[in-house]
Amino acid sequence: MQEDRMESENRQERAVAAVEALYRGFDPEAYLKYNYTPPRADFSRSDSIVPWKLNCLHKAFSEDAIKGDILVDIGSGPTLYQVMSGCEHFNRVVLSDFLDVNRSELRKWLKDGQSNFDWTPYLKHVCELEGRSSSAWEEKAERLRSVVTDILPVNVHHPFPFPPGALPASSADCLVSSFCLESVSPDISSFTQALRNLSSLLRSGGYLLLIGALGESFYMAAPDVRIPVVPLDEAQVCASLSVTGFDLLQLSVYRLTPDMLVGVDDVKGVFFAKARKP
Ligand code: SAM
Repeated sequence: MQEDRMESENRQERAVAAVEALYRGFDPEAYLKYNYTPPRADFSRSDSIVPWKLNCLHKAFSEDAIKGDILVDIGSGPTLYQVMSGCEHFNRVVLSDFLDVNRSELRKWLKDGQSNFDWTPYLKHVCELEGRSSSAWEEKAERLRSVVTDILPVNVHHPFPFPPGALPASSADCLVSSFCLESVSPDISSFTQALRNLSSLLRSGGYLLLIGALGESFYMAAPDVRIPVVPLDEAQVCASLSVTGFDLLQLSVYRLTPDMLVGVDDVKGVFFAKARKP
């Protein structure tokens, strides 16, 4: 019996290691181009993926008054859109990624202002959602740069995903994570375990805002790097949140229109889950 359990744990570890090895080929520039330029980021269309995500995040932070001291984003990748609303409601924002290339891309924009990717249309759009003039985007950029205190290495497969001492356990008031867990886990049990690991970072009563892919089996992380994804459905998202002890407060779903399928993945939809740790 114990041998069976050890064999199954070893198999799981090997499967996680295989996904980790694929990530060595992740190309931040290609990933940004595939997912964060039109048609997926077309701010003139409300049925484009990025405006939908920004709207969900904006509503959660403003209408539900989610605020506090520390906001932590898990698996940030090379992207910043996911904290553009939240940065106004927290004193401190912590970004994180498994890969140094992504942490360095974030640092380029945040610390040196030298990124090749232009986040200005995103900043303008979020200002408009907040009822401000789009010309306030520079203030928002400054706010974001001033509240991000850390860009940490993270591994969601570890019981405590951050390096020891980087952040006290249960110290986050809110966690955000977008398109990370399902694209770094070999199967649904690993996805659920990763969610349980994230919970160790969040204080009791804190919020989790989880965005992810539905029905996706792979995505391209570079022209020749195909990363397998756990194809989730809404019921599995709800079940994983429930079994890991989260109270689900909202689940919204976006279905991709045919022109959003641009040949870089086979995603069918996107979910936005707002949950609370009791
Ligand atoms: N959050 C970004 C977004 O919304 O586009 C990036 C999502 S990207 C699909 C998945 C991210 O997970 C990558 O940036 C990758 O480096 C990171 N990642 C890979 N393995 C990981 C792990 N074991 N723990 C945490 N993050 C990981």
